[in-house]
Amino acid sequence: MTSTRQWQAADAAHYLHPFTDFKALAAKGTRIITKGDNIYLWDSEGAKILDAMSGLWCVNVGYGRQELIAAATAQLETLPFYNSFFQTATPPAIELAQLLAEVTPPSFQHVFFANSGSEGNDTIVRMVRRYWDLQGRPERSVIISRRNAYHGSTMAGASLGGMSGMHAQGGLPIPGIVHIEQPFWFEQGKGLSRDEFGIEAAGWLEAKILEVGAAKVAAFIGEPVQGAGGVIVPPATYWPEVQRICERYDILLVSDEVITGFGRTGRWFGCETFGFRPDLMTFAKGVSSGYIPLGGVMVGERVARALIDEGGEFNHGYTYSGHPVACAVALANLRLIQREGLVEKVRDDTGPYLARHFEALAEHPLVGEAQTCGLMGALQLVKDKRSGEAFDKALEVGMVCRGHCFGNGLIMRAVADRMIIAPPLVITRAQIDEMVALIRQCLDLTLADVKRRGWM
Ligand code: PMP
Repeated sequence: MTSTRQWQAADAAHYLHPFTDFKALAAKGTRIITKGDNIYLWDSEGAKILDAMSGLWCVNVGYGRQELIAAATAQLETLPFYNSFFQTATPPAIELAQLLAEVTPPSFQHVFFANSGSEGNDTIVRMVRRYWDLQGRPERSVIISRRNAYHGSTMAGASLGGMSGMHAQGGLPIPGIVHIEQPFWFEQGKGLSRDEFGIEAAGWLEAKILEVGAAKVAAFIGEPVQGAGGVIVPPATYWPEVQRICERYDILLVSDEVITGFGRTGRWFGCETFGFRPDLMTFAKGVSSGYIPLGGVMVGERVARALIDEGGEFNHGYTYSGHPVACAVALANLRLIQREGLVEKVRDDTGPYLARHFEALAEHPLVGEAQTCGLMGALQLVKDKRSGEAFDKALEVGMVCRGHCFGNGLIMRAVADRMIIAPPLVITRAQIDEMVALIRQCLDLTLADVKRRGWM
């Protein structure tokens, strides 16, 4: 049997991991994850870990679901692949398109398949610009996004995203993409109520539209709740005001639902939780619970009618658009979500339960803010609870906390000093208790470290 050390040596010798300092990881040694069941993982040393991040915001129905495995196996045996380019399609792709039209808001009757969120957002850029071409307005090409947004890692995805570290490598953003500030009340809303701040933050969109010139702006894109940016839940006033501004200037509104789609926020889609009606939606991750790569774009009637009725050939697509095995797994996944009522469970039961217990962590001496939305949550670690003063970034207190989580059987992610969770939607109340107790224990360990080192 291969030992952990052998895995680590081979990994360090050959495998370049995403978003990783290769040399630092090789020196430290990769943790090898070997098995999953329900909300738990096991590593090659046999340690059991509660996965409070659902893989990477995706394993929403939990690990080891036989329905998804059986769907993949059956489709692999019947027809492992055929494309949709040659005026052809496969039954799972058609059935999934039909089911997506059913579970998304009524204005969405069409889907374009990709394999990931990044590819979905590349499709968004192509589609938005094609739409305005067809309106005879090709100069409407600028897309507005937000700082600290995450929309993927392809050239277009990383450009739409607002991560300065990503822009610094590879000459990004590509032309025609501009950014405004994020609606992060804890950092920027001092002196304003959350609702007042939501209106102010939406106003930054209008200011940018006027700066660029409304006649040049094609679309605004945002995640209903910024995920990778640190689970930043916007004030309730934000999205309805953004919608009004987009309508005022006739700008397409794009909701990136890669994390928030398929029940994460307690409704099928984040736009429903936050009360807005996008023209386009990107999806990935939860559509197949991460069992197999799948993503895409839901195309609302306004854009679909233009593309279908006036567009002729749309010169865009991927070999694996509508991959039959991925679509078969997604169909099984969505039917399981429907059958088990997981969206309603998050809305009525586990979401409110998590809110009560996780938000109680706000009393911990290290925590400045504790926030949830459905089954996603964030704890802002601060030096001074009363003033909200942050730790010196260089201390990397979030990473200290993440280290304690990792060492104590819990996967929680650190975004600077913001600790975030997004557990599988199948998590039970008892498992939420177990998770919150682990989080509290890791906060205590972090606090002891911080005090011992004289950082607080
Ligand atoms: N959009 C959002 C909101 C995301 O969170 C992510 C991935 N975390 C992406 C797009 C990119 O998806 P992928 O990694 O599947 O390309």
